[in-house]
Amino acid sequence: MTDYEKIFENNRRWIEEKKASDADFFEKLAIGQDPDFLYIGCSDSRVSTEEMMGADPGEVFVHRNIANVINNNDLSVMSVINFAVSQLHVKHIIVCGHYECGGVKAAMQPQDHGILNPWLRNIRDVYRLHKDELNSIKEEELRYRRLVELNVEEQCVNVIKTAVVQKTYLQKGYPVVHGWVFDIHSGKLIDLNLNFRKKLEEIQEIYNLGTPGLNKVY
Ligand SMILES: [Zn+2]
Repeated sequence: MTDYEKIFENNRRWIEEKKASDADFFEKLAIGQDPDFLYIGCSDSRVSTEEMMGADPGEVFVHRNIANVINNNDLSVMSVINFAVSQLHVKHIIVCGHYECGGVKAAMQPQDHGILNPWLRNIRDVYRLHKDELNSIKEEELRYRRLVELNVEEQCVNVIKTAVVQKTYLQKGYPVVHGWVFDIHSGKLIDLNLNFRKKLEEIQEIYNLGTPGLNKVY
């Protein structure tokens, strides 16, 4: 059996296992989704979203791209955020980076990466914003890890900049935006414990898109 054929064999086994524990499992899935979480992470094949979160189908709405970038002009990620917040009413938005991220590493190298250049520029912008801190870290590996964390923070800021997140949070008290890093060396999920309300206050000074009368969190 080839690796390709094995996938369909795995799928048959998975269906049997699911039905063995709940005969109506797929009928229930077909009814609809009501996830509390929007997860935005890296496309890296080693970062398995549902597996590392212990989540079942239907529990996490997922968007992945190279180096978990939330680009203001990317219609794909902006549509995902809009749909997740306004239609699915998610309570939490997670931006999850990971150590050993190839996209972040490529952005640290002064090289021409062709079609990837405009994408990596988003991460190079994060480096530029934090260059004093990053340049003060002498060991390259530690600097690389810190850029992974700072990239998550800045992408969280990009999520908070959106009108749908600001307005919905001010009206309903959710969604809350979280920054995580997956440590590939240990399997551990690290919560960067971003102060969401503080970030929102800072962002509102410049990017205030809240509803008049409801436009301050402080
Ligand atoms: Zn990555």
